[in-house]
Amino acid sequence: MSKQQHTFPNKSTSVHELLDTIKSKRTKDIDWRKGRAFCLIYHPGDEREEGIKQIFDQYYADNALNPTATPSIVELETETVSMCADLFHGDEQVCGNVTTGGTESILLAVKTARDWAKQHRPHITQPHVVIPESAHPAFMKAFHYFNIDFTVTRTGKDFSADIAATEAAIASNTILLVGSAPAYPYGVMDPIVDIAALAKRKNLLCHVDACIGGFILPFIKESGYAIPPFDFEVDGVTSLSADVHKYGYAPKGASVVLYKNHELRRFQFSLYTKWAGGIYGSPTMTGTRAGSNIAAAWGALRSIGREGYLEMAKATMDTTERIKKAIRGIDELEIMGETNMCIVAFKSSKIDVFMLADVLNKKGWHFERQQLPPTLHFTINYIHKDVVEEFVADLQASVAEVREKRLQQMGNKLQSSIVKGLSSLLPEGTIAKLQQNSKPDLDNENKAAMYGMMGALAGTGDLDKIVLDFLDNIYTAKS
Ligand SMILES: *Cc1c(COP(=O)(O)O)cnc(C)c1O
Repeated sequence: MSKQQHTFPNKSTSVHELLDTIKSKRTKDIDWRKGRAFCLIYHPGDEREEGIKQIFDQYYADNALNPTATPSIVELETETVSMCADLFHGDEQVCGNVTTGGTESILLAVKTARDWAKQHRPHITQPHVVIPESAHPAFMKAFHYFNIDFTVTRTGKDFSADIAATEAAIASNTILLVGSAPAYPYGVMDPIVDIAALAKRKNLLCHVDACIGGFILPFIKESGYAIPPFDFEVDGVTSLSADVHKYGYAPKGASVVLYKNHELRRFQFSLYTKWAGGIYGSPTMTGTRAGSNIAAAWGALRSIGREGYLEMAKATMDTTERIKKAIRGIDELEIMGETNMCIVAFKSSKIDVFMLADVLNKKGWHFERQQLPPTLHFTINYIHKDVVEEFVADLQASVAEVREKRLQQMGNKLQSSIVKGLSSLLPEGTIAKLQQNSKPDLDNENKAAMYGMMGALAGTGDLDKIVLDFLDNIYTAKS
């Protein structure tokens, strides 16, 4: 048996030295603090961040597991939930919990629906959910974990959920309908009013995924943009998720899940009363819960406040308009749908957008690559007001660069079609070998070709294997 890459540390290392190690490791990371990342991080500016950090530090090591040990954290959590319920037009019955993120909020909402149905729809042995194709994969994770069947419906021409397709997909074992406000891929909101009305008419639950939109849509609306109703003011909405660690600008590890009433939330809780260790009741998925994250969520809402969020939403929408205008001015690029907020995705029928992505990465910009069809995805937040002109100039220059690389692009296309053709003929394991060359090296010239290949393989067993190998590889320690 060969040894691990890293032996367990014998001696203590000075924090000074460890910080140096981290500093050198971090040179590989995206520089979100300077507004270079249109993904993953939401930065309210250094001053606001400093305040939230101080509140986080107050509960650095605290555990919110036992409410009687730290009643102050219970207060911070219930106040956070209540402030959010107010923001989302909930009446006094609306309640919920702070979770570690959108995924946990969604897992809990789905689990709650399943257990609600066990009691209220006892004839259903195998529950089923109807979900638009644009909804977040956290739902598929939930269906997988909790053994729930689901039907994915196609979105309409405007990329929002198709209400007729949703209704057609409802079966005798359906328990829940889902809509997003907005969906992540193109920032387009589903018709929540229609979905909730349909759910109500069919006696189903209705979850609104406002994970990304929750903490900015109300302020975008207040700035004068038309935002359709999406929260508890809509009749038929029974639960809602919203991430404080996105446009709430709290540090990672904070979301809220809200329910129409206490009766429904009871199905979220978990308890076991026969354990030698005592009566064990737990509101969310985790056991030990970081007090720091709950405090920071509370701290972000309180220290920024409606006025702060409004100011940030206005600046973010101005930045978004500037970027949209620039994209519209580039002949090769086409914005996907009518985004309701500060998410912009574009495709191109004239250039390879993944090649454009490589060029932009080289200039230090980071964002997401999407598929089916290939698009580039930009999540714009407050910090980008400082870099928007530089970004627009780089985008224009990068498109010009790619225009000139057309010949090379044709080579890549040829390469991906060859890979597609070959993948059915190659012996097992060959595809996995191809993937070893695709470590997440942000300057890798081959990324465009790799994504072309991925697109050709989407939905095949080969791609499943590539992704599983990739995850296994990335979460194995390197020397
Ligand atoms: C981010 C997001 C999620 C998942 O949230 P995590 O915090 O990443 O777990 C779910 N739905 C939407 C629309 C999102 O944008």
